[in-house]
Amino acid sequence: MLEIFFPKTCSFCTSLTDKPLCMNCTEDLYLMDKVDCCAKCGEPFGHIEKSAEGNELCLRCIKDEFYFDFARSVFFHKGFIKELVHKLKYRKKIILAQALSELLILNFPFSAFDFDTVIPVPLHKSKLRKREYNQSSLLAKKVAGYFNCNFDPFNLVKINKSKPQFEMGNLLQRIKNVRNLFEARSNKNIEGKNILLIDDVYTTGSTINECSKVLLKAGAAKIGALTLTRATF
Ligand SMILES: [Zn+2]
Ligand SMILES: [Zn+2]
Repeated sequence: MLEIFFPKTCSFCTSLTDKPLCMNCTEDLYLMDKVDCCAKCGEPFGHIEKSAEGNELCLRCIKDEFYFDFARSVFFHKGFIKELVHKLKYRKKIILAQALSELLILNFPFSAFDFDTVIPVPLHKSKLRKREYNQSSLLAKKVAGYFNCNFDPFNLVKINKSKPQFEMGNLLQRIKNVRNLFEARSNKNIEGKNILLIDDVYTTGSTINECSKVLLKAGAAKIGALTLTRATF
């Protein structure tokens, strides 16, 4: 279980370290646990200090837009963590999945792990064929392995293609772009289970939310969403 914590070099600058990143690079990470955020979706409020109660909701959560129970991201999507995610995703640097999943585990934002099944946000099969791997699945597999719970990368599938979310302008376009894109093949590992849904980047939450809607329909008891980074606008 612990052998994953002994890489030899920093994943970013290649100096020697026994952590995923060296001390210098670690100082340049923008951890989200330092900021005040929405108790449900994790959207940062931009305050420097965390509030004592920590239970305020953002406007979208007040309007009850999300199907998941809570969502959190470990880092802001900026600086070199953004570069690392980009390399993992688009440059076939699969080796980075090791360090990035260690960072997810080391900074796991939920106080207790009470999930039964870890499920990655899926790619459409045409994209999977082109990329040859699903970066979120690589991260999810390591998390499931570490916490010793079910890993199910096959049940939730993407049945239709979406346009890249960054091509979408406003929030409404992004929400429409991911509507009816996902499907659960069976209720196995989902029905009555607490699900940890994992993706690399959280932007508007539309993708995570559509996946959550499908999982809820398949009988999930509780859905927590975890992403490595969060893009803010
Ligand atoms: Zn470094
Ligand atoms: Zn919220």
